[in-house]
Amino acid sequence: MSGVLVLVGHIAGQVSRSSLELLTLARRLGNPIAVCAGTADDEVVKTLGRYGAERVHLIESDELEEYPVAWVRAVADLAADVQPQAVLTESTPDGREIAARLAVRLGGGVLTDAVDVQAGPLGPVVTQWAFAAGYTVTSRVVRGIPIIAVKSNAVVPAEAPVTPSITRSGLQLDEAARRTRVLSRTVRESTGRPQLTEADIVVSGGRGLGGAEQFELIENLADALGGAVGASRAAVDSGWYAHAHQVGQTGVTVSPQLYIAVGISGAIQHRAGMQTSKTIVAVNKDPDAPIFELADYGVVGDLFQVMPQLVDEIARRRA
Ligand SMILES: Cc1cc2nc3c(=O)[nH]c(=O)nc-3n(C[C@H](O)[C@H](O)[C@H](O)COP(=O)(O)OP(=O)(O)OC[C@H]3O[C@@H](n4cnc5c(N)ncnc54)[C@H](O)[C@@H]3O)c2cc1C
Repeated sequence: MSGVLVLVGHIAGQVSRSSLELLTLARRLGNPIAVCAGTADDEVVKTLGRYGAERVHLIESDELEEYPVAWVRAVADLAADVQPQAVLTESTPDGREIAARLAVRLGGGVLTDAVDVQAGPLGPVVTQWAFAAGYTVTSRVVRGIPIIAVKSNAVVPAEAPVTPSITRSGLQLDEAARRTRVLSRTVRESTGRPQLTEADIVVSGGRGLGGAEQFELIENLADALGGAVGASRAAVDSGWYAHAHQVGQTGVTVSPQLYIAVGISGAIQHRAGMQTSKTIVAVNKDPDAPIFELADYGVVGDLFQVMPQLVDEIARRRA
């Protein structure tokens, strides 16, 4: 079986959940080779092995963070050497940019926003949702190495322990790589809440909230349940909540155990980012809101009355 390159992300010894999802998908296609930036500690290597990485390749350099283009080149050099069945990366803005640059360098085809990947007789078969998940499309790259950017929550990470071998390479900083340089980074303040894409419970607010201050109602419920906060595009565009929290076609895809949509109408573009949630609860004063077509439980009512009651009831039952 030939290799499948998986670009993994890790911070402070923790491998991201989406990287574990990519490893799980990669095992369907071949032997996963996890590609890590920087020196990964033992814990990272162990985790990658637990999820089936037969090999962990470390691209080691102190300058990686500063020169992101050089990272793509290093991955392309590795891919040219390994000739993998496919390269898998996350379908985030960064991941899609890496995928596009890799495809150019390798002369392969790129498929983004994949929600499933299966082995086919002629190479990986990729499922994508098109037109806000109104259509399901299956595609295959017909020329060169397939570069596939996969949306988070496409699959539940499954363990398949192996002991990985470790290989290393460095970074070549040529003229082209030096043209783009990251000058500074700002660490986002932690809210103490789980990551939106990784949370088991997501509470999202929409235009029905009527303002930024009212998002406190969403945060209160999220905190009572230990969940993450999401928002509709209308709320984000109004400046009520940060774009990083937007759920939907042009935001993040979530697939939690429980999704609570508050004051959200359920437009198709919003549904595209949350309709695979296991249980969906909607709070909306309009009984004909499209979100109720999809909800497992619906509360028809004014959110300003419903939300405080809900939080109080949770607190009462927890006491
Ligand atoms: C190319 C494109 C991409 C897009 N991408 C996204 C995306 O990623 N994510 C996304 O969300 N949208 C996206 N949209 C926008 C989408 O079409 C909708 O406009 C948006 O989702 C509407 O947000 P909303 O449900 O919060 O607002 P509205 O549609 O205005 O709905 C507000 C809801 O709140 C209810 N409400 C009002 N007051 C109360 C109250 N007091 N109590 C209870 N309920 C109340 C109303 O009955 C209504 O149903 C995209 C659109 C386009 C064209």
